[in-house]
Amino acid sequence: MSDCLFCRMVAGEIPADVVHETDRTLAFRDINPQAPTHVLVIPKDHHATAGLLVGADPQLLAEVVAAAHAVAVQEGLVTGDGAEPGYRLVANTGPQAGQTVHHLHLHVLGGRPMTWPPG
Ligand code: 5GP
Ligand code: ZN
Repeated sequence: MSDCLFCRMVAGEIPADVVHETDRTLAFRDINPQAPTHVLVIPKDHHATAGLLVGADPQLLAEVVAAAHAVAVQEGLVTGDGAEPGYRLVANTGPQAGQTVHHLHLHVLGGRPMTWPPG
């Protein structure tokens, strides 16, 4: 989609600080980081939400989650098979959740303690 910011990043039309890539996923640093590590993980194909993607291509949603975990390992947010020190995965979905880019993206957030629930 030519009017989608993240599709344009996949196409190389807008620069991205890429930290991880597979044939069907891309991960890059958020331009306005909310934690010491703040990476966005997307499918290269355009799907607006996780709910739409799981209906269209559940394997691709699994690949996006796997890529997010690989980023967390790469960034030192989890070590070995454990979950220490830990990280947060967020998929804002729809206006009430604050989704501003309508191309599914998982936020990988880590590097500081986090509270629950979020605001
Ligand atoms: P949302 O609010 O839709 O869940 O998250 C969108 C995210 O995209 C925000 O965290 C925002 O900072 C990030 N973002 C918006 N524009 C750009 C951009 O041009 N480059 C990068 N790397 N991130 C962006
Ligand atoms: Zn898109």
